[in-house]
Amino acid sequence: METSLLIIFVLAVLVLLLNLLLRTKKKEPLPLPPFPGSWREILATQSEFYAQLDEPSKSAFEKRIQQFLSQVRITGVKTTVEDLDKVLVAASAVIPIFAFPEWEYINLREVLLYPDSFNHDFEQQGSDRSILGMVGDGALNGAMVLSQHELRQAFLNKTGKANTAIHEFVHLVDKTDGAVDGIPEILLQRQYVLPWLQAMQKEIRKIRENRSDINPYGASNEAEFFAVAAEYFFERPDLLERKNPELYQLLVLIFRPSPAGPAQAGFTEG
Ligand SMILES: [Zn+2]
Repeated sequence: METSLLIIFVLAVLVLLLNLLLRTKKKEPLPLPPFPGSWREILATQSEFYAQLDEPSKSAFEKRIQQFLSQVRITGVKTTVEDLDKVLVAASAVIPIFAFPEWEYINLREVLLYPDSFNHDFEQQGSDRSILGMVGDGALNGAMVLSQHELRQAFLNKTGKANTAIHEFVHLVDKTDGAVDGIPEILLQRQYVLPWLQAMQKEIRKIRENRSDINPYGASNEAEFFAVAAEYFFERPDLLERKNPELYQLLVLIFRPSPAGPAQAGFTEG
């Protein structure tokens, strides 16, 4: 009898100790699994942005891809989501905020992939199906909708200035401060807000007068201007810098591309 009491006592003490140990142990995020070689291949061949990074930055980029995919679900609507799609969506998310290591898309839970373009009611048939990407509002808050076809095409095209997925993520970045107004107050230092606003308005006037090589859709309003200018900046930094150095420098101040990465040529801090 005494022995069994002793055993119970010892067990109770052990359970108590174990409990204390577990409670004091700090909760740490699970370590990320190794980055799949096939995903690295996708990035190396499809993303100019990634291809031009140095090795440590490439590893950092891969980690950000995995973190993004652990937080945001990618769901196919009448289409199958392949690894290619996951990697391209995540790359489009990471590219605009790569210079901000702490950044998380707190306003996004899910990306819905439609096979091709859709309309405002998310119908994929009919004549009014011109939308290639959209940031959800209202009931769809926290969701983004993208055309799978467009997502893949943008990364295949090496000379274009457009990338719908990057465009939509830039809207989300813009939205983080509460207003989708073309001014990303979280990224842009206060003293550059006015110069940026003036540059946007000046370039929108030039688009309307047919004197700009920026996508005319950017003349819709400042929010669309910011998104199309950012697409151009990340897809063809070399061309934008040559054609519009003033706008290019302001976008450098916003997105702060790393000296080891693309889009850094001609960047002088000051
Ligand atoms: Zn837009």
